[in-house]
Order: sequence, then C-alpha cells, then structure tokens
Amino acid sequence: MTIERLPDPASARTWCAEHRAAGATLGFVPTMGALHDGHLSLVRRALLENDLACVSVFVNPLQFDEASDLASYPRDFEGDAALLQRVGCQMVFTGTLAQFFPGELRADGTLPAERLLAPGPCALGLEGVCRRGHFEGVATIVDRLFDVTGPDVAYFGQKDFQQSLVVTDLARRRGAPRVVVCPISREPSGLARSSRNERLSPEERARAACLSRALSLAGRAWLGGERDAARLDSLLRAELERAGVDVEYATVRERDRWSAGTPRGAIVAPVALVAARVGPVRLIDNHLLDEPWPEPSP
Ligand code: AMP
Repeated sequence: MTIERLPDPASARTWCAEHRAAGATLGFVPTMGALHDGHLSLVRRALLENDLACVSVFVNPLQFDEASDLASYPRDFEGDAALLQRVGCQMVFTGTLAQFFPGELRADGTLPAERLLAPGPCALGLEGVCRRGHFEGVATIVDRLFDVTGPDVAYFGQKDFQQSLVVTDLARRRGAPRVVVCPISREPSGLARSSRNERLSPEERARAACLSRALSLAGRAWLGGERDAARLDSLLRAELERAGVDVEYATVRERDRWSAGTPRGAIVAPVALVAARVGPVRLIDNHLLDEPWPEPSP
C-alpha cells in the first residue's frame, strides 16, 4: 500500500473522518519531521495498537523561542514520507500555520497572543522557563492537531518528558484522545535520538554523550540508595560540567507530582532531567531513575 501524502490539514481532516466513519481505529503521532528511529518507534506502536496510523509533519513556529532554531530546523517531507511508507504508516500530512488556523492570523502572519492556549501547571519550571512561550505553542498546535485527526490514541515520546505531561493534561481536559508515552530511543553511545543531532559535528556528538552519561550515573546513585534531590542535582550537573557543555538545567522531579522547583529532601519516584547546549545545538534528555538504564537500541 502506498502511504497517503496529504498537503494540508483540511484533507487530513476528511481522510481521518472517512476512516473513522468506516469503523477504523486511528493512532496519531504528531512530529516536526526530520524523522529518525525515535519517531518511527512511536509509529510502530501506533500501528500495533490501532487499525491505522497517521503522522503530522509540521515545524510549528508557535513553539520556537529562537528564530535561528526555527530557521535551521531540518525539513525533508518527501524523505519523511518514504520512511513512514517503509514502516507501514497509512497517512502523513503537513500544512502551514495559516492552514492550521484559517482566518485567525494577523497581517504579519502570527497568531494573536490571546488565541494561545494556557498549557497548565506542568508547564511551570525547566522548559517552561528556559523556552518562554514554548508550551503555549505546543498546547495550541496539539489541540488543533487533535481536532483535525480525532484519533483514538495519540503517541508522544518520553524524550520530551515535560511536554508529555502537558499534552496528557491537555487531552484529559478535552476528554480525548488517550495519550500513550513511549520510551526514549537512544543511539549506541546513549545519546537520545533527536532531529537536532544532525547539526552536531562529530566532536560535538561525542561530547553530547555526557547528557545520557550523567543520567545513567544518577540512576546508579539512586539504585545505590541516594534519595536526596539536591545531591542528585549536583551529581548530574558535575558530570555535564566535566564534559564542558553549557548546562541549562540538571535536576530531579517527582515524576507523578510535577513541581516548578527541585523537591526538598528525599525523593520518591524521580525523573532526572537535563538540558545543555553543545556547540550550536540545545539538547534535552531525561531518565526515570527507578528504571534500569536501557540497553542500546539497534
Ligand atoms: P519532534 O518531531 O521532536 O516534535 O518529536 C515528535 C515526537 O517524537 C514527540 O512526541 C517526541 O517526544 C518524540 N521523540 C522525539 N525523539 C524521540 C526519541 N529519541 N525517542 C522517543 N520518542 C522521541
């Protein structure tokens, strides 16, 4: 079967509605493209659990706080469609901001600020502080993507841990869809797969492995009995600083009780989260400390 490549959200809306009306269950994977094995693991899961899977490829300007990051974000719709075809995905669509928000943009092509959705309490702290307006942009486009596709289940990656909390909360407030959060796909070095990795030089890519190294060290400390949140924070930061990357944050949170700051004292079910700049690229990663460090994916 050839994958359906749809150029705009209106045709995607029709495609999804027709298949839902015919009784098919639909899994949906929102992406910004430049697809890698991490994205494809979400699509495979969607195919496993639904009759059909569809993917959006849209570099959402609403969620970028740096013009240079938006401009340099890799784009390859035809390459993405070919990869999706190979894993058996039935439909991929894209669109422009104007097509996603018809009649709503201002003359300068931006969405009025009052039209942005409030992303809820999980947007406080970390990414919500380092990337001002990021989660408002994420919540606004994800809400619209859910409207367009009306899926049974939407698949997100744990790679963007705080985002997974924000969209799970959004889906709960909307009443649908069910959200599934999938494990992080890593390169053999441990580096979390990311579209932005394409912009790392070989030397930077080697240095970037310090993010996952710091997380696995924190995991080992946790399994060895370390429960103090501040000490886990220090351990993470020290490992990143040793590698000479520019640390934005290195910290732990309770995974089931999000807080803007580091919890005080002993922690119960921790997620460790790091963000650092390596050369021109800002990278994020995280690890659920009570789970074993994953074997490298093939
Ligand atoms: P993006 O294209 O970066 O917006 O990512 C689209 C979806 O893929 C998001 O839900 C991400 O969390 C997920 N994703 C990105 N990288 C990975 C990865 N290495 N492993 C698993 N999921 C990922």
